[in-house]
Amino acid sequence: PSGAGFVHTFLPGRVVFGAGTLDRVATEVEALGVRRALVVATNSARAAADVVAAQLGDLFAGRIDGVAQHVPTEVAEGARAKAREAGADAAVAIGGGSAIGLAKAIALTTERVVILAVPTTYAGSEMTPVWGETTTGRKSTGTDLRVLPRVVVYDPLLSRGLPLKVTAASVANAIAHCVEAVWTPKADPITELTATEGLRSLSSGLRDVLLAPDDLEARSNLLYGACLAGSALATAGTGLHHKLCHLLGGTYNLPHAETHAVVLPQVARVNASSVPQAKTRLEAALGTTDLAGGLFDLFQAAGVPTSLRELGMTEAQVAEAAAAFKPTDNPIPVTEDLVRDILTRAWSGTRP
Ligand code: NAD
Repeated sequence: PSGAGFVHTFLPGRVVFGAGTLDRVATEVEALGVRRALVVATNSARAAADVVAAQLGDLFAGRIDGVAQHVPTEVAEGARAKAREAGADAAVAIGGGSAIGLAKAIALTTERVVILAVPTTYAGSEMTPVWGETTTGRKSTGTDLRVLPRVVVYDPLLSRGLPLKVTAASVANAIAHCVEAVWTPKADPITELTATEGLRSLSSGLRDVLLAPDDLEARSNLLYGACLAGSALATAGTGLHHKLCHLLGGTYNLPHAETHAVVLPQVARVNASSVPQAKTRLEAALGTTDLAGGLFDLFQAAGVPTSLRELGMTEAQVAEAAAAFKPTDNPIPVTEDLVRDILTRAWSGTRP
């Protein structure tokens, strides 16, 4: 650490990791001392939700299937009503960031409801106290410890069937948490350690899973990396990259994970040299001597879109977004010119 010192807040929470740990969900729920557990699951996790519902026995308080992306308020309201009617004091979320996001919406406003999360993608929401909700196209977010899952059960068997396309984009999203964590205003040496190891695990897991999509060790490395990436996001918070993606996703309805993949190499190009020590560590973790170019090449090899144009953004929207972006705390000053430069390159998919 530099002579300036640092502040790091460890977040409470328990992680249970390993193939087959889905079988331990009911035991973990019981250990929390709750009585009525509502199961919130993505459609793709229905089979896992059936297993958990059966396991819960008397603790099972009902089920919410079919979650929507970005937690629309009407969906959140319906889920809260169901939680109240069922007298739930726990939500077991099984799925990606959308299912976990819905459980967070319940826990945020429903007295006493705690979350146990079983993630099946690599988005990392399960490790953060950050919630989000979308009302008439506008997404608001906030931080509240009530939404931080008390237990996270990581079972790599559940993500084995995640299609490669979704896998690659989701891993890019996790990698963005790791990379940005080294230059946000809240960056610190402990978070950097977590982020660097996260990037190492995610990039090697991604290379392996491209060759063998259902390889359990590769899936374990990805899930472990996602856990570290989520922790890094939780303690470092967001910076220029995440805020840009938030604006693009919200305003132009671009796909969440893919937008991260396109924008990250371009933000790394302008920011990384301001944090030379962290840059060197991240490069070693990625196995490259050029962080921005290495990220671009990895995502391209994984078949993730590399341009905002491919994601449906128009060229005119680049200038519009650059003008709309509110300056944020960053190692180099965030001017409209800088943002336009980042977005222009991201739009055309220019290798940094
Ligand atoms: P998601 O939950 O919508 O899942 C992506 C897709 O994968 C969906 O179509 C889903 O049905 C499918 N899927 C999930 N698991 C599967 C499996 N095992 N097999 C097959 N298909 C599967 O999206 P996501 O990328 O996981 O999360 C994105 C959302 O999470 C966004 O709304 C984002 O804002 C939020 N997020 C929040 C935080 C936070 O800290 N609050 C962090 C990261 C992401």
